[in-house]
Amino acid sequence: MTDFTGLMLIEPLMRALTDEGYATPTPIQGKAIPILAEGRDLIGIAQTGTGKTAAFALPMLQRLAASGARPQPKSTRALILAPTRELAAQIAEAIRVYGKHLKLRCEVVFGGVPINRQIGRLAPGVDILVATPGRLVDLWRQKCIRLDAVEIFVLDEADRMLDMGFIPDVKRITAMLPKKRQTALFSATMPQSIQALSSFLLTDPAKVEAAPAATTAERVEQRVLFVPKANKRAALAGLLRDDSINRVLVFTRTKHGANKVVRQLDEDGVRANAIHGNKSQSAREKALEEFRSGRTPVLVATDIASRGIDVDGVTHVINFELPNEPESYVHRIGRTARAGATGIAISLVDAEERGYLRDIERIIRQPLVVQTHGYGAISSAPANEDRPSDPTRRPGAGRSRRRRRG
Ligand code: AMP
Repeated sequence: MTDFTGLMLIEPLMRALTDEGYATPTPIQGKAIPILAEGRDLIGIAQTGTGKTAAFALPMLQRLAASGARPQPKSTRALILAPTRELAAQIAEAIRVYGKHLKLRCEVVFGGVPINRQIGRLAPGVDILVATPGRLVDLWRQKCIRLDAVEIFVLDEADRMLDMGFIPDVKRITAMLPKKRQTALFSATMPQSIQALSSFLLTDPAKVEAAPAATTAERVEQRVLFVPKANKRAALAGLLRDDSINRVLVFTRTKHGANKVVRQLDEDGVRANAIHGNKSQSAREKALEEFRSGRTPVLVATDIASRGIDVDGVTHVINFELPNEPESYVHRIGRTARAGATGIAISLVDAEERGYLRDIERIIRQPLVVQTHGYGAISSAPANEDRPSDPTRRPGAGRSRRRRRG
C-alpha cells in the first residue's frame, strides 16, 4: 500500500493525517483498518511503535462519526482500556489529533489523580473513553459511568494487562458491556491466557500481525558491553558524555535502581530524571515533558513505567541492567526505532546477567555483538572492538554471525 487513499477514510481524517505528515500507512494500519472499518472483531499482534494506535483509532473515529449518534449522559460510545496511565494519556492525545476535524468527545481517566474532575468530565457523556482498568471500575462503582452503550471496545496491550494483574478488572468491565459490540484486542505476545481471553471477548475475529519482534531488533543497532557491576556507573557516565546523544532512555530493573542512577548521574554532572511507578502522576508528566522538550536529555525508566512512553527522536537506549524477561528487551530497544526510525541500543552486562543475554539472543533470533572496552564514545562504530570475548559464550557468537538468523 503506498498511501492512505486506498483505506477509504473520510476527508476529516485524511486531513488530520496530512497535518501530521503521515504519508503511508504502517503495515498494521494497512491490514487492520479495512477490517475494523467493516465492523469485524480483530486480534492485532503488535507492539508499541508499529502504529497500532492509529490502526484502531482511525476506523473507530470513522464509525462513530458516520452514525451521528450522541452519547447519553454518564456513558461512552467507545471504550479503550490501556494498562498504564502514560499509555492511556497518549492514546487519548493521539485520538484528539486524528479526530481534530470531527466533533467527537474523547476523555481519559486513570488512577493517581483526583477522581472528581474526571467525574465532572464524564457527566455529559463522551464518544470515546480511554481508561486504565482500576480507575474505570472505581468510576463505575460510584455510578459515574455506565458501560451499557459501548458500541466499540478496544483492549490494548493485553499481555501487559496480564503481567500487571489487571485481568480480573478487565473481566469485570467486559461483563458490563453490551453483547452486541465490536471488539479489538491488541497484544505484543499471545500467551495461552490471552488466547483464552480473546475467545471469551471476541466473535469470529480476524487476526493481523505487525512485523514480528525480530524486525524491531533488526532496525536497531545493538551493542553489548561487558562491564563489571562496579564499573557500570563510570561506563554510563562515559557513554553519556558523547555529543551525538540527543535523547537517551536508560533502563534499570527496579525503581530503587532508577533513583540511584539518577542520583549518581547528578553527581557526575549529567541531568536526568527518573520515571517509575512510585512517582506521582505530576512528577511523571513533568519528567516526560522535560524529556520531550529536550531540557533533560536523559530519562531513567523501569520497564513498566516505560510502556507508554511515546517520544519521537530517542537516539539511544541504554540498558543499565538487562531485563529478566527477554520480551522486555525488545520493548525497550523499540523505544529508539519508532515508526521506522533507526537507533542505537547499548546494554551494560555484568557477569550475573549473561544468562539473561542468552535468553534475549534466543528471542531476537540473532547473536549480539560484544565489546569489552571503548565505552568512552557512544557514536563510534564497534569496528575492531567487537569480539566474542566472553569465554562462557558460544563459539563464534561475534561479528561474523552478526546478521545470521537461526
Ligand atoms: P504507536 O505504535 O501507535 O504507539 O505509534 C508509534 C509512533 O508512530 C507514534 O509516534 C505515531 O505518531 C507514529 N505513527 C503512527 N502511524 C504513522 C504513519 N502512518 N506514518 C508515520 N508515523 C506514524
